[in-house]
Formats: sequence, structure tokens, C-alpha cells
Amino acid sequence: MKGKFLKNERAHMMVKSQILTRGVTDPRVLEVMRAVPRHLFVSGKNRDVAYGDYPISIGHDQTISQPYIVSYMTQALALRGTEKVLEIGTGSGYQTAILAELARQVYTVEIVEPLSVYARRLLEALGYDNIAFRCGDGSEGWDEFAPYDCIMVTAAAPSIPVALKRQLADNGIMVIPVGDYRQYQELTVVRRLGNKYQIEEKLGCRFVPLVQAEKAKEGERWKNRPSSR
Ligand code: SAH
Repeated sequence: MKGKFLKNERAHMMVKSQILTRGVTDPRVLEVMRAVPRHLFVSGKNRDVAYGDYPISIGHDQTISQPYIVSYMTQALALRGTEKVLEIGTGSGYQTAILAELARQVYTVEIVEPLSVYARRLLEALGYDNIAFRCGDGSEGWDEFAPYDCIMVTAAAPSIPVALKRQLADNGIMVIPVGDYRQYQELTVVRRLGNKYQIEEKLGCRFVPLVQAEKAKEGERWKNRPSSR
């Protein structure tokens, strides 16, 4: 384990009752899910329910994903410890910690600056030195360090962003929720084989939307327009 953690009874229970029962079996994934202190990634009263079987608010209209979904998406990447991984949607940084335990290097992009700053501080305090943070629009990926062996997107996109497909290495795996953010989405696993992309829809899920920077800017312009001429 890269982070230094005390034995965590609540995380053991979480794995036993929510994750093993639903068929996630990769022993490396189970081990880190038992170790990483999920309660540190939420605040205030939410710490009491941090190991519950649901997503939890982390402020800024965002949520930390349900433990089962974190384990499922992580298992889908089949990490062995040598990979360079791109994560879109740092959020609380919980999923980032799980990836940092299981891969060689993680690049994580978050569009809400305070979330990015907070996650960075926490993950650095926990001792992770294999995570690079960026604040910006993750639907463009992070071109500078491409290609990535794995890409994980933790916000829903109407379709798979072209930039992310391009930044995925040959034989690489991407996991991304695809669909309308107001409804259920399909958790989708994409494997790149040369210039072909093999696409498998795995299960229904519900994520917050992947904000597109251009649209967000338009919203700002609209909001800030002069109210009278
Ligand atoms: N893995 C995180 C999930 C957070 S929710 C966790 O478990 O804590 C999804 C996150 O994606 C939010 O923090 C949201 O701000 C971020 N997000 C939404 N659109 C984005 C975009 N275009 N680029 C980067 N991050 C984005």
C-alpha cells in the first residue's frame, strides 16, 4: 500500500456486504478498497455515513461515487501496477487514491477548482507521490502526457469524447458512463485495438454530467449579460 493506513473495520464491512456480494473479485481491488479511508474524502456529518451503499455530496453539486461503482470501474481497467492512467473528474479524490494504489502514475483532471485543490492537499498529505493534478475541462483529456494505458471518466458524457479516444493507448481500456445525465446512463468499457474501438455496455448507472467548458462559458456569458442597454 502506498498510503499508510490503520486497519479499517468499516471499509472491511463495506467490501464484504456491498462489493463481494455483487461480484467484484479482483483481489488487488478488494485490498485497496479495504484500506483507503473513505471517510477522509467527505466532510462533517457525512463522515458517519461515508461507507454507506450510495453516493454522498461533496459540495459544488458533486458527489463521491458509490463504493460498488468505484470498485466495478476500477476492476474494469484490470490494473497491474505498470500503467499510466488518466482520470477525468477528480471530485473528492477517493477514486484517485484507489487508482494511485493500483497503477504506476495517475493524471487527474477536475473542472471545479476548489475540489481539485482540496483533493490535491488531501492526497499529498496521505503520502501519494504518483498523482499529477490539473484544473480544466477533462473532455479534452490531457494531451501533454498521452497516450494513457487506461482512462477513467467519472462524469456522464452524451457520447465518448473524441479527444479521450485519441489519447487512449493501443490496447488501452477506458471506462465511462455514456448517456443523458438527466436519466440513467450505461457504464461503457472501450478497448482500443489499433484504430478500432471495441465498445461494451456493462450496467446502468447514474453520474453527474461531464460539464463541457464551452457550454459553461456560454452560460456565464448569458448570466453576465447586461440586463438593460
Ligand atoms: N470520482 C469522483 C467523482 C466526482 S463526481 C469521486 O468519487 O469523488 C464527478 C466530478 O467530475 C465532479 O467533481 C465534477 O466537477 C467533475 N467534472 C464534471 N465535468 C468535468 C469536466 N468537463 N472536466 C473535468 N471534471 C469534470
